[in-house]
Amino acid sequence: MDMNSITGAAYIVAALLFILSLAGLSKHESAKNGLTFGIVGMAVALVATVASTIDVSEYVDGRALVIVLMLAAIAVGAAIGIWRAKIVEMTGMPELIAMLHSFVGLAAVAIGWNGHILGSHDSMPSLINIHEAEVAIGIFIGAVTFTGSIVANLKLSAKMKSAPLMLPGKNFINIGSLVLFAVLTAVYVAMDTHDSTGATLLLAVITLLALALGWHLVASIGGGDMPVVVSMLNSYSGWAAAASGFLLGNDLLIVTGALVGSSGAYLSYIMCKAMNRSFISVIAGGFGIEAGPADDKDYGEHREIQAEAAAELLAGASSVVITPGYGMAVAQAQYPVADLTAKLRAKGVDVRFGIHPVAGRLPGHMNVLLAEAKVPYDIVLEMDEINDDFPETDVVLVIGANDTVNPAASEDPTSPIAGMPVLEVWNAKDVIVFKRSMAAGYAGVQNPLFFRDNSQMLFGDAKDRVEDIVRALD
Ligand code: NDP
Repeated sequence: MDMNSITGAAYIVAALLFILSLAGLSKHESAKNGLTFGIVGMAVALVATVASTIDVSEYVDGRALVIVLMLAAIAVGAAIGIWRAKIVEMTGMPELIAMLHSFVGLAAVAIGWNGHILGSHDSMPSLINIHEAEVAIGIFIGAVTFTGSIVANLKLSAKMKSAPLMLPGKNFINIGSLVLFAVLTAVYVAMDTHDSTGATLLLAVITLLALALGWHLVASIGGGDMPVVVSMLNSYSGWAAAASGFLLGNDLLIVTGALVGSSGAYLSYIMCKAMNRSFISVIAGGFGIEAGPADDKDYGEHREIQAEAAAELLAGASSVVITPGYGMAVAQAQYPVADLTAKLRAKGVDVRFGIHPVAGRLPGHMNVLLAEAKVPYDIVLEMDEINDDFPETDVVLVIGANDTVNPAASEDPTSPIAGMPVLEVWNAKDVIVFKRSMAAGYAGVQNPLFFRDNSQMLFGDAKDRVEDIVRALD
């Protein structure tokens, strides 16, 4: 068997493993197996690609150098990857993922430029310059993914404001850029790109246009829609990889890119449906969303409660629902929350959890934290499963959640998060909100829940306050 057939067979095995990986990751129970399939598939793909590259005869003279360079690149990449994965906090995962997406975009841009510099090796004459089209499209998708992911990284790490950038004529900017890209690409494809400075300059303009569009698309999206943006960039990174696959003539990269691209697009679609958002509007950089009036309403005074009084309220309750949010992750309060749950259950109180689909900063963020602290699965319910039960609930503990329990989403049509389904905690008899201040949540929207008659604020770090309550219950 020659090297080509071995590589082809290895690629089919790797593609199948990636499909099994995706299938596994779709359920809690099979997620670990899914990860294993993915890791093995990637190892097979890497070994096959490296082996086939080494085998290419044109490298015979400099083969040793090629092998050394490739192994060095893999070693450096793997070392950085392992180091980042080891030190990342659970709260830092979303921005790490956004950063990794940006690398895929950057790689696609580099591969595109490499394709432009080397030119087409295709010996078959073709009517249209397919190679040039692949170069321009690959660079465009890659550059949009690159800067879009950098903005997502900055927004998720709070280094950039989460409020949407509202440039005048922002929809025109987005659509105009797409039209301009199509025109410039048509000109580039029609040009003789060999040794042409004009073609190189044109490609540089296409690259800059795509970099600016990626930045603007994601900057224009508000905090409430960021979960969809993260999965959308995941999808873009897949399409960028697929475009590189076409350029490099690598079938596995095309298949893998298409798998990532389509599954990311489908996840974005499902999230949009769950959040009552328009898919088209979000992928088009908040198309059709205009700035609402500034929220300068006077919501009145809020009430405060101390840990001892909260413990008394809980001890006298028969049903309690805990709705955790990003603040629980920041405070690492899941362990005392698990202790509190166990203590209340031991006293005969019915304790359940209500999990909003975008609570925290990652899909499934809260479920992971609660599972880590060994909270039983059967008392952790999805938003749709628990929302009707709030009127019969005595006490709700809102632990570091804000946007996901904001009544403005359902009551104020001018709110930036209007229409987003939320946990209707305000229907319970008493609500205790754990947070450090009256600051707004990730979407930057004031929360009228804090001023309701049945709400009381328990200020301070969520971990410290929950521990205070656990002590008071002893
Ligand atoms: P929010 O981000 O809306 O609010 C979190 C609250 O936690 C803040 O108001 C903050 O208030 C409080 N907090 C922070 N640290 C602490 C601490 N140590 N102790 C106590 N409280 C603390 O949280 P939600 O989970 O309700 O909403 C998630 C938001 O993130 C949504 O807007 C969602 O769209 C967005 N998002 C979600 C993603 C996902 O996939 N899940 C991805 C990207 C964005 P204070 O500072 O006063 O303490």
